[in-house]
Amino acid sequence: MQVNDILEPNVRIRELKKDRVNFVLENVDLAFANSLRRVMMADIPTVAIDIVDFETNTTVLPDEFIAHRLGMIPLVSNNCDEAIRYSRDCTCLDSCQNCSIELSLSVACNENRTMEVTSNHLDVVARGGYGWREEVDDGEEIARRSENFGHPVGKNDPSMPPVLICKIRKGQELRVRCIAKKGIAKEHAKWSPCSAVSFEYDPHNRLRHTTYWYETDIKKEWPLSTNAAEEEPPRDDEPFDYNGKPQKFYFEVETDGSLGPQEVVMKGLTELQTKLANLILGLKSDPNDLDTLGGDGGAQLPATNGAAAAPRAAGWGQEGATASGWGTTPAPGSGGWGGSTSGGGGGGGGAGWGGSPGSGASPSAGGWGTNAPTGAWSAGGSGWGAGSPARNTGWSSPNPQTQSGWNV
Ligand SMILES: [Zn+2]
Repeated sequence: MQVNDILEPNVRIRELKKDRVNFVLENVDLAFANSLRRVMMADIPTVAIDIVDFETNTTVLPDEFIAHRLGMIPLVSNNCDEAIRYSRDCTCLDSCQNCSIELSLSVACNENRTMEVTSNHLDVVARGGYGWREEVDDGEEIARRSENFGHPVGKNDPSMPPVLICKIRKGQELRVRCIAKKGIAKEHAKWSPCSAVSFEYDPHNRLRHTTYWYETDIKKEWPLSTNAAEEEPPRDDEPFDYNGKPQKFYFEVETDGSLGPQEVVMKGLTELQTKLANLILGLKSDPNDLDTLGGDGGAQLPATNGAAAAPRAAGWGQEGATASGWGTTPAPGSGGWGGSTSGGGGGGGGAGWGGSPGSGASPSAGGWGTNAPTGAWSAGGSGWGAGSPARNTGWSSPNPQTQSGWNV
């Protein structure tokens, strides 16, 4: 092989199961492999319970505790890109059938035994049922949902044990109404479709990226991983190649069932491509240069995460002092990640990552904020909870100094 050979990236699937895939990714950079891992973990939208209204809770667990557990229950989220909107992109004020799934849970124990309340007790409120809002027109999303979209993963599947929510005794009752929304795991881990994503490279440690601690014999004390069979072991007299780069990455992607492993990997690649395309777009100083991008990098970028992949989006501060890097700009129709497409939203249409203090102050503005009725617990607990004033300020700390710019 010549040094200058540029090999095509290659994927070889070694094992594919219902909830996991093991594959080898070759001829890519370490940074690319790691980006793919991170995107699969944190940037793929799913639905998860976000708002919980407690009607009755006489269990031994407090409301917040149960709300957090409900939020962490994986819900079937296939084709989430097309089947549901982000609430921030929806025309409704709070939640509607286009941007949310309603679930109810009503369990009471009347017998003298311990009863387990599980995810199998969660029911999706059917069309036309309680909470269905006739005044809201159905969006095209609803027709794109699979039959079990939004249902707890493995519901009534005897081969899959349900998720335990709490245990109740005679006379205790739990009755709640939950609103599940679309989101990504950068906002809260409950939206991650993956339970684990990992990769290994260089199993023989030929590149010496790892320093092993050992007592006497490194080969005895550090058994090789199974991936070592894929690569030639280094000879003892082999000189160290300080220009060596890893070529093969052994991935293991395990999902929580909300999405299939194929969908996670494919969506991960699409998401990464979109991020890079948006970066190129942002770096273009002259909007007229967009024509020269060509191919997938052209003006017709795939929209992701509800962002309008708007041509002529804000670049690196090229809109003047008010633009703040990624996304935020007062110009309508612009906006990078998470820009609202509705155009309304209290003047917050342009708030992306880390909205500026000006746009973030509006109640419905801000990239990641959700509005919840007072008294509702944010499922998932702390962090990006509803009810906190900080949630309206986009993806950033409430500190005004850190609100604009790149604070991912
Ligand atoms: Zn809505």
